[in-house]
Amino acid sequence: MSVDIRSMTKEELAEWLASFKEPKYRGNQIFQWLHREKALSFDEMTNLPLTLRTRLKETAEIRPLAIKERQVSKADGTEKLLLETVDGCLIETVLMRYEYGLSACISSQAGCRMGCTFCASAKGGLVRNLTPSEMLEEVFLFEREKKEPVSHVVIMGTGEPFDNYENLMRFLSLLTHEEGRNLGARHITVSTCGLAPKIRSFADEGLQVNLAVSLHAADQERRKELMPVAKSFPLPELMDACRYYIKKTNRRLTFEYSLVKGKNDSLEASRALISLLKGMNCHVNLIPVNNVTESGYERPGKETIRAFQKSLEDAGIPATVRRELGPDINAACGQLRARRTVTVHTIRET
Ligand code: SF4
Repeated sequence: MSVDIRSMTKEELAEWLASFKEPKYRGNQIFQWLHREKALSFDEMTNLPLTLRTRLKETAEIRPLAIKERQVSKADGTEKLLLETVDGCLIETVLMRYEYGLSACISSQAGCRMGCTFCASAKGGLVRNLTPSEMLEEVFLFEREKKEPVSHVVIMGTGEPFDNYENLMRFLSLLTHEEGRNLGARHITVSTCGLAPKIRSFADEGLQVNLAVSLHAADQERRKELMPVAKSFPLPELMDACRYYIKKTNRRLTFEYSLVKGKNDSLEASRALISLLKGMNCHVNLIPVNNVTESGYERPGKETIRAFQKSLEDAGIPATVRRELGPDINAACGQLRARRTVTVHTIRET
């Protein structure tokens, strides 16, 4: 079986090359080709001897992602790609343009087993974890195409990043490596649905990477309805982990709160949220949901959204409403993949 060479750390690469008597500096050269030049083939590595390139071709692979479908928003240029891994898994990646540059929202798993009821990605369950190399490729693919660097990466697409913790950590260390892609850790945000023990582990890693926690409801019963993960990690346990994170890292935590009409958008719900978050070094990102036909969830009206935001701000909790990107392509995660997965199944069955 070929080695997944782009998922290797610089040290592992040097060790692997040493096993067939290649000097250490070859490892540095290959690491730079893979992570700085974003090479997709060993033939591009022109400063390596032909014999080594041949050996690499025989023993290692740089797993590409194939573009199966592309949607581009006419409203704001947001691009959503449906990508296929070498073994046929489908994932989604979104590229958004902000005034500060390009931001890629990437997937960490093919599918997801967390089962959030408002999410299209949850419908088919988990297929498999993505490798660090595949996560890197979700970023590199855009940079190759656009010929400009992606300035921010959010791991908020399909999948629960902390359910793929080891690969996530390796991805972060490769993406921020100063001899590789060297993206600033503060330009990266990891989003979790609330795996409390992993929030504590993440706090202990000592990284400058931002953390966002999907809350979506401020009381345990309602949260359980929206997010089955709340059964395993109830709200008090989650909030303890969040407080631990803030204390340990001295960093501001973002809480994501999807607003679902009639479910969690009332002023009573906002009061519960205020009493839960009061005194914490945090920020609330309100995300009015996209309408997902199967779940029947609807987006609240503009006035309800504004009133919810104002009540938080009046209580001293900074709150923003996420800008709706690519409204004409339905940029919320999982929807393109969900549709395509259904299509693929239909084709296979006939
Ligand atoms: S919202 Fe995130 S964690 Fe929840 S099911 Fe969807 S992809 Fe998984």
